[in-house]
Amino acid sequence: MTAETVIRDLEVSVYTVPTEGPEADGTLQWKDTVVVVVEPVLEGGLRGLGYAYGSPAMAVLIREHLRDAAVGHDVHAVTGAWEAMVRSVRNLGRPGLCSMAIAAVDIALWDTKARTLALPLHRLLGAVREAVPVYGSGGLTSYGDEELVGQLRGWAEQGIPRVKMKVGMDRGASWRRDLERVAKVRDAVGDGCELFVDANGGYGRTQALRLGREYAAMGVTWFEEPVSSDDLEGLAQLRDALPLDVTAGEYGYHLDYFRTMLDARAVDVMQADAGRCAGITEWLRVAALCAAHQTPLSAHCGPALHAHAACVPPNLRHIEYFHTHARVDSMLFDGVLTPERGELRPTERPGLGLSVRREAAERYLTPG
Ligand SMILES: [Mg+2]
Repeated sequence: MTAETVIRDLEVSVYTVPTEGPEADGTLQWKDTVVVVVEPVLEGGLRGLGYAYGSPAMAVLIREHLRDAAVGHDVHAVTGAWEAMVRSVRNLGRPGLCSMAIAAVDIALWDTKARTLALPLHRLLGAVREAVPVYGSGGLTSYGDEELVGQLRGWAEQGIPRVKMKVGMDRGASWRRDLERVAKVRDAVGDGCELFVDANGGYGRTQALRLGREYAAMGVTWFEEPVSSDDLEGLAQLRDALPLDVTAGEYGYHLDYFRTMLDARAVDVMQADAGRCAGITEWLRVAALCAAHQTPLSAHCGPALHAHAACVPPNLRHIEYFHTHARVDSMLFDGVLTPERGELRPTERPGLGLSVRREAAERYLTPG
């Protein structure tokens, strides 16, 4: 350890970016996206950058609880700082906002470590692939048919061979509209493009079984959160009954959650979000846990946040290229990757290869 690589401080900024218009899925509406940016400063003066989506409350947690746990650690021992942060939130509750706040710091520390070594993060982590497949994701329930079809067909035309749309509209009450919308998109994207649907837990078990059969007959290959991701028995039943991939996992905040879901045989493909499950440190452990269960892993949301880490697990299926986050990332950061031929290919810039677009970001800066 040299004094140069010891963490001196964590600077935290919150950006709140309004959506283009109303945004909703089957079970939630939102009007903005909050990005919590962490910039570690080392004793030698080098600065890094990481972030996670969530709430301004994460910034409070970072300043009041995580900063002191991370400061003083050598950034080359990221997991030491990670362990100290996890211990520091014992009485606050690890799942939820604490895990998301730890994620923002953990990702920033990995980026900073890579910068000290002048390596792109995927090389530091040990990549098994140079580029990661993506699927275009959006198709929100708040879109009219024209916007829906235009967005998904646009990705297919760009050469992304898989796209995902939301179903479960009005918590399953508007299931007839779901079927109409899926049929329209199926026609528009062509046979060469896989179609995924995500109900965000909006259906009941019997409804999901009935609609899952209809979706499978329409050529849909991925049925995400057909029922609540807490209903492990229901997911397992649907997985056995339906000829498409049943998937979930985006609300996983710690390793035990994923182990429980895997033990219940609840998913064909696990989804995990490094911005929720306490960062890249735990996300890679989730990948290993899935490998031990012969289960592929797909990264949930945040393409810029996952592109490097996703080069590492042999059992990675793909990254979600979510419209809302891709838009926000390119507004706030320089260096954001765009898909080419259906893949994201990390550059050779050090770390995550990102920098804050200070002037552009200034207008979204949220006091706190
Ligand atoms: Mg989802």
